[in-house]
Order: sequence, then structure tokens, then C-alpha cells
Amino acid sequence: MSIFPIRSSFETLNPYEIVQKQIEQAALHLGIPRSAIEILKRPKRVLTVHFPVKMDDGTVRVFEGYRSQHNDAIGPAKGGIRFHPNVTLDEVKALSMWMTFKCGVVGLPYGGGKGGVVVDPRELSEGELERLSRAYFEAIAPIVGPDKDIPAPDVYTNSQIMGWMMDTYSRLHGAFTPGVITGKPLIIGGSLGRNTATARGCVYIIFEAMNDCGKSLKGATVAIQGFGNAGRIAADLLSSAGCKIVAVSDSQGALYDPAGLDLKKVEEAKDAGNILAYGDAFRLEPEKLLELDVDILIPAALENVITSANAERVKAGIVAELANGPTTPEADRILNEKGVLVIPDILANAGGVTVSYFEWVQNLMHYYWTEEEVNQKLNQTMVAAYRNVRRTAQEHGTDLRTAAFIISIQRVYQAMKARGWVS
Ligand code: NAD
Repeated sequence: MSIFPIRSSFETLNPYEIVQKQIEQAALHLGIPRSAIEILKRPKRVLTVHFPVKMDDGTVRVFEGYRSQHNDAIGPAKGGIRFHPNVTLDEVKALSMWMTFKCGVVGLPYGGGKGGVVVDPRELSEGELERLSRAYFEAIAPIVGPDKDIPAPDVYTNSQIMGWMMDTYSRLHGAFTPGVITGKPLIIGGSLGRNTATARGCVYIIFEAMNDCGKSLKGATVAIQGFGNAGRIAADLLSSAGCKIVAVSDSQGALYDPAGLDLKKVEEAKDAGNILAYGDAFRLEPEKLLELDVDILIPAALENVITSANAERVKAGIVAELANGPTTPEADRILNEKGVLVIPDILANAGGVTVSYFEWVQNLMHYYWTEEEVNQKLNQTMVAAYRNVRRTAQEHGTDLRTAAFIISIQRVYQAMKARGWVS
């Protein structure tokens, strides 16, 4: 079973089918050959690996993992590795395809890649996790490399795991090779600003979108689903910009205060283990968070949370998709008809891969930037990408998601044409 839940029999939530539909949708606006669309609808290379890991009790378990490389016309593949018990090949393929379009929309010289291992890492000891991470990376080593495919963290993987994987690859090649993976610890070639990049990139775009809508940030109301790495930092940055964070949720529940939550208190409750300890009077039914009358709604947790079942009731003016795939295609259609400005995931959360790109560039140069330099370059990239998507949406009379796909598909098509793959 995929980690994408199934909600109804008529609303397809297979991520591979969703991304193929999105490509077809954008293709309607593009005069490019059918052969180019057919190439883009499938990954170029998919590797399935099985590898043994010695467990602490002396037994050996065999794990299954995948690496999908969607398209490398513009540059090497790039994308995270997730460890999750419900990882499927279709999901990894779809995620690698979204990575191509995410890199394309912000203009990075990468194609898309994604990896996954079918495992619940929470059941492993630290030693087992290290052996599994190293064994998986050794198994996919023939197809990754600084000029081939550069992985990064994703669900349930982190900078320590990236450090082990970089070390494994460096040992295999007998040379320190930090450019093989991003999201590493700072001391072995990580970039300053990487931890905050995804949320920061999204916030830079929200500033632009609010300005376009003629709305002030001061006092603008915000609801955020998910209070993890991405959601929590977005809350902090938006609050510092004068917005009022009225609702947040995590897997334990949701909090709501129309007067604005005290973010410091929410963070203290979260760090102590339960955000609901903030106060009983502020509890909210978690699903209701998505339906609050706010200026900005930020889904920052799970896939497929805005569906045909609740999209009609979404009242936010702007939905900024910090999570990957939070809106189903049917819900997307409903939101657009209602006039909600949906900032699509491949644009809204591209700040993470953008600073991953900066990390790789710094690794190749062996020269490192300050956090201010990284944030400034991130700002330039995100604002330019948003402006380009807005302009393309106006030119083609589409929503921002279709416009983002149009830009990416056009770029990849031009590269495939320049290389002689298609006419
Ligand atoms: P995370 O694991 O740090 O945080 C996820 C948060 O979601 C946690 O607070 C968790 O409690 C909460 N959550 C889980 N189930 C929930 C539910 N039913 N209702 C409300 N909240 C729930 O993960 P993250 O890195 O913050 O990633 C969040 C989303 O952003 C994912 O979709 C991820 O793919 C996307 N994203 C993250 C990055 C990044 O750099 N961190 C980059 C691109 C995209």
C-alpha cells in the first residue's frame, strides 16, 4: 500500500497516474511533439535493489529499495531518499517525475530522481539504521554520482544518514566525494541555510503573492497543517513578518485562536511532546483547520488532504502547498473555480532543492558561502520563478500549477531537442 491514502473509488490517488494526468493537462497548452510527452510520462531508469542487513540479534534481513531517474536531459538527476514501510515503486517513480518539474520551474540544471526503502526506521536501532543506509547506498552506487544522480533527505531520512551515505560512496571510490549527496552535516560539506530553505522559499513566494493580491502581511491570518521542519519554520518566518498564526496542527491534534496563537508557547508544548498542552480551550477538530476563514492556508504535512470531499469548504484566499501533493486534481479544479490562489507544491516547496543545488555547487567548488549569501540567492531564485509562473499563467489563461508544468516541460523539451532525442 502507498502512503498516499485512497479516499474514493472515483478520485484516483495513485501518484503515478496523477503526475501523468498533470503532464497531459499541461501538454494541451504546448505545441510539442507527442514523442516528447511520451518520454516525459515515464522515468528513464528505475532500479530495484534487494540487500541484506545484519540485525543486532545476529539475524539477517533482506530489504527492498528503489531508485528512479526520470529525465537527465538538462543535467544529473536530483531527489530525496525516503525510508517508509509503505513506500511503493509507483510512488517513487511519481516523486522522481515531480522532482524534474520542481527543478525545471526554478531553473536548476537537474532532472528528477527519487529513492526509497521499504522499512520502518523507527523499529531499527542506530546501528541497524546505519548498516541499512550504507547497504542501500552501496546497492544503488552504480547509478548515482555527482554528475549522474545526487540524492538528498526525504521522509524519515536526515543529515546523519546523508553523512553515512556520502562516506560509503567516498570509500567505494577512494576519494572524498561530498557532491554525491546533499543535506549533509555542515562539517562534511552541508550548506548553511539548508534546514530553513524549504519554508523560507515558500514564505518568499507568499510575500509576492500577497502583494499581487493587494493584501498586507501585517495581521494577515494563517493556518498551518503540520508543525514539523517545514511548517514550524514557516510559522516563525510569517509571524516575524507580521502575520497572525491563528491555527496549527500536528499528528496529535490542532490548535486555534482567532486572536493569534502565542507561537513561543506552541513551540514549548511541541518540544515537551504534545502541542495540545498549549491549552484545552484552544483545541480544534483537525479537519476543520483546512476550512478556516484565513488569508493563507499552508498544508505542510501529508499528501491528498484537500480532496473533492472538502475543497468546496476551503475559505482561504491563498493555499501555499508546502507539503508535496496535498491537493488532489479534482480538489484543485474546485479551488480554482472558487478563485482560490493555489501556489503549487513544485513551486512552493522548491526552496529545499534550490539550496540543495547551492550545496552541490559549493561542494564542487570547495568554497562555501555565508548564510546571508545563501538566503539572498534563494530569494532571487524563488521570486524570479514565481514571477515567471504568474506571467505564464496569464499568457496561457491557466492556473499556476499548469503554468509551472508548462515552464518545466518546455525547458526539458528544449534540452531533449538540443540533444537530438526528439525533433
Ligand atoms: P516533518 O516530518 O518534519 O513534519 C511533518 C509534520 O506533519 C509533523 O509535525 C507531524 O506531526 C505532522 N503531521 C503528521 N500527520 C498529521 C496529520 N494527520 N495532521 C496534521 N499534521 C500531521 O516533515 P517536513 O520535512 O516538515 O515535511 C512536511 C511536508 O513538506 C512533506 O510533504 C514533505 O514532502 C514536504 N517537503 C519538505 C521539505 C523539507 O525540506 N523538509 C522539502 C520539500 C517538501
